[in-house]
Amino acid sequence: MTVDLGFAEKCEPWRLESRFFPSKIGGKPAWLDLKNIPGEKDLHCEYCKEPCIFLCQIYAPCEDSDDAFHRTIFVFVCKKSECCRTNKNGNLKVFRSQLPKINEFYPAEPPVEQSDWRTDINVNQWVKTCYICGILAPNHCSKCKNINYCCRAHQIYHWKNGHKETCNVNKELPVHSATANNKFLFPEHEIVIEREEVRNDDDSNDLNREEEEMKKYEEMIQKNEAGTLQNEDIQNELLNVANQVEDETFSKFQSTIDEYPDQIIRYNKGQQILYISAETKVNKIPKCAECNGERQFEFQIMPQLLNFLNLEDPIKCIDWGILVVFTCTKSCTPKNGYSVEYVWKQDIIENNSATAS
Ligand SMILES: [Zn+2]
Ligand SMILES: [Zn+2]
Ligand SMILES: [Zn+2]
Ligand SMILES: [Zn+2]
Repeated sequence: MTVDLGFAEKCEPWRLESRFFPSKIGGKPAWLDLKNIPGEKDLHCEYCKEPCIFLCQIYAPCEDSDDAFHRTIFVFVCKKSECCRTNKNGNLKVFRSQLPKINEFYPAEPPVEQSDWRTDINVNQWVKTCYICGILAPNHCSKCKNINYCCRAHQIYHWKNGHKETCNVNKELPVHSATANNKFLFPEHEIVIEREEVRNDDDSNDLNREEEEMKKYEEMIQKNEAGTLQNEDIQNELLNVANQVEDETFSKFQSTIDEYPDQIIRYNKGQQILYISAETKVNKIPKCAECNGERQFEFQIMPQLLNFLNLEDPIKCIDWGILVVFTCTKSCTPKNGYSVEYVWKQDIIENNSATAS
């Protein structure tokens, strides 16, 4: 079992543009399909109805599919802490986009790693994008008609944060400075991928211990149902074993990431999720919205990514244990450029009610 790990690194902004097929955190999305990009309605948070903000993208082509010679998964999140609910995914959106080697946006040869190479390969050559968040922008400032927005909320935000002064000044703003000065977005980093070196020593032991605990737990529940346990003991015993299972899961999580504590992504398509808690398990993954086929686990986003988001208030801010992304097993071709995929959020639940108050 091999896992590719993602790490956040600073890099020059031009390297993170669409023409170089980046994996990255923050800034505006570096769209793959440059024409059929998602808009406000595709991205709206289920709770506040405002568009989710770009979190990260992973460039992950499928070697065995000609239609996915280029392939990128995009993840978006609502920035509002009040929209972040325990084990609920309504504040998250995931899209998959892919292209064959010969396509209308990019040359078939690999890109040349130079800042001035083919700057014409740019989403704004094809569609208008929101000045604030970078998604499809059907609206513009009615006064200067120069700046485009995806929604009214982002237009108002920009008006209060600078555009009131610059509207009608008639100054074209370069795309880069627009991203660099934009406090609305998460800070931009490259995601660098490295293969995890697996230590084989105590892995199987861990698994056995975990299985034993699970068996004990299930036996307890069966005995309980058969009525062979004394009432007073049941609660305590069950709680005990449940806590042990929870501790085992968390300590396995900890020991697995110990070697590479800064990992923000674990990419191991079709393999195992590294759970952070035993309280919830993923079940019933919805079928692919495009082809109705099965979805499979592709990668998970780790809590360490939160450290790179410049979250102002560490108490009242977005949070997660792990974000698990599932994509179409066949990686079918999206009909409209971007296909919605599934994300599952697992949090660590505080059992102790005293901590809640
Ligand atoms: Zn929201
Ligand atoms: Zn916007
Ligand atoms: Zn204006
Ligand atoms: Zn599909």
